[in-house]
Amino acid sequence: MERSNPGQLSQNEKAVGSARDTSVNGHLLEGVVKVRGRTAGSVGVPAETSAQPSSVMESWKEERTRSVEDNEMSLPSLAAAYNTILRGLGEDPQRQGLLKTPWRAATAMQYFTKGYQEKIIDILNDAIFDEDHDEMVIVKDIDMFSMCEHHLVPIFGKVHIGYLPNKRVLGLSKLARIVEIYSRRLQVQERLTKQIAVAITEALQPAGVGVVVEATHMCMVMRGVQKMNSKTVTSTMLGVFREDPKTRDEFLTLIRS
Ligand SMILES: [Zn+2]
Repeated sequence: MERSNPGQLSQNEKAVGSARDTSVNGHLLEGVVKVRGRTAGSVGVPAETSAQPSSVMESWKEERTRSVEDNEMSLPSLAAAYNTILRGLGEDPQRQGLLKTPWRAATAMQYFTKGYQEKIIDILNDAIFDEDHDEMVIVKDIDMFSMCEHHLVPIFGKVHIGYLPNKRVLGLSKLARIVEIYSRRLQVQERLTKQIAVAITEALQPAGVGVVVEATHMCMVMRGVQKMNSKTVTSTMLGVFREDPKTRDEFLTLIRS
């Protein structure tokens, strides 16, 4: 989904804030169920929304995965599809420069979406530590490369993650791995943002989590819908990051410093 308004923080907080009275987990579950219900029911769903409910917003523990064997098996049909695309564009797939393009493009697309091959729970094993640390943990400027699910062109930008531990911390590199797994799928920026926050919450049960994603959508930039340098900013604030303005402000200040 594309929005050109960079000042989206308050809008997202409002969307997230509908379950203010429930616990962090209760709130999260509600969010997940809601999205599931919407994608599962076909009535009234805009044509652009995903037709594959199982691929979106699953709980991190029950993600559908794609295997390396699946890649090998589907490569010929994917390449054939790219061949069709080339013809459809008025190109000649037999000219020299394009001879291997369908295979290259199919292989590249599998790589761009390799997040389907991985499960969050696998990377978290052995990476969660009991620790009495109760100060905010922030990892900012995590590089993110994803694919817009509406146009199949890149979304890229930075992800900033903060959380307030509650006796459990996560190996720092794993935050970037969570970003990698969710971003290497067909995405909309809002869902990517929320999935990262949900995964961290479910893994660590922290006092709170904040995730901010700043991204450029090539489908907007290349089609001239918005100016070259504008970015879309989305955020998900959970627990004390949502309930306590001071905590949220500290996070937002630190990721901008
Ligand atoms: Zn798009």
